[in-house]
Amino acid sequence: MKPQQTPDFLRKSSLALAIVCLVFLTPFAINNFIQGRLLLGTGSLALIAILIFNTWTITRYNRYYDSLTLLGLVPAILFFLVTSLRSQGIIGVLWCYPAAASFYLLLPERKAWIANVALLIVTLPVAWTVIEQVLAVRMMATLVMISIFLVIFVRVINEQQYKLKLQAATDPLTGLLNRTLLEETLEQATAQSHRTGVAMTLAALDIDHFKSINDTFGHAAGDQVLRRIGQLLQGRVRRVDKVFRLGGEELLVLLYGTGGKNGSSVAEELREAIAALELLPDRPVTVSIGLATLYPQENWKLWLKRSDENLYQAKAMGRNRVVT
Ligand code: GH3
Ligand code: MG
Ligand code: MG
Repeated sequence: MKPQQTPDFLRKSSLALAIVCLVFLTPFAINNFIQGRLLLGTGSLALIAILIFNTWTITRYNRYYDSLTLLGLVPAILFFLVTSLRSQGIIGVLWCYPAAASFYLLLPERKAWIANVALLIVTLPVAWTVIEQVLAVRMMATLVMISIFLVIFVRVINEQQYKLKLQAATDPLTGLLNRTLLEETLEQATAQSHRTGVAMTLAALDIDHFKSINDTFGHAAGDQVLRRIGQLLQGRVRRVDKVFRLGGEELLVLLYGTGGKNGSSVAEELREAIAALELLPDRPVTVSIGLATLYPQENWKLWLKRSDENLYQAKAMGRNRVVT
């Protein structure tokens, strides 16, 4: 996850932009036909068609195709700018600024840059011939400035959004993931496994007799046990794996690309490593683990349930063990 424009940002901003443009553009498109400017009229219609398509896919399916914008809408906008520069001179220059800004609302940052470079390449030679050359140079400088300012603006917003999202998904006590991203993560893992055949294993962990640890050593010591076990898990699994604190002293590890025997040996290692930690004076802390390797066709809810049932078994069989 990187602080780029999130799909949500682009969906919202491009939907708002599409609605605004549809309201403003439609009368112009009609007027172009009435005035006999067929090329401009047809161009406007193409633009309107793409905007309607974007509005439709976003509102109906919550999907936005930014490549269509880059390959369809951006060339259409550039065509309008060139036409406007040729026929109206300086007024055409003025329209370059909202166009440059719109690219940051419509496209991920890199594509927005590409669109802006295309804007400069296409409009400058025309501006050079239709307005004073000193003005054309200034136009280029100010367009680059606008572009840089917008990159800063979009980056700051997205960084904030990214931080908030991360904060909301993190358990403050252990720094592990909380339930917020559980469903999304398991759904993605399930889909990926079914698509590519890569194995996935869930390890549901629960600290044994945690209540008595709290009762004997105090709640703060219990918290410390949770933190240390969280650190151990996070430190031992690979970067692609995910460790969740589902609540209380229940943890869940998603082992990516791991199945069957490998899953069991990883779980066994984790169990042993936790038991070997010296967390409390004269008292080992152990965990019980329920394992489940995803079956073909199985959905994430059943998969999670199986790991939980195996955990329950591990508890029933005397704790401090892994059940597959
Ligand atoms: P079992 O071996 O069957 O899992 O027994 P247990 O005592 O671990 O299980 P139980 O579910 O009865 O108790 C869980 C305890 O975890 C009860 C609750 O007070 C404690 N707990 C839940 N959240 C926290 C927390 O954030 N910090 C601390 N210190 N304790 C917590
Ligand atoms: Mg417990
Ligand atoms: Mg429990």
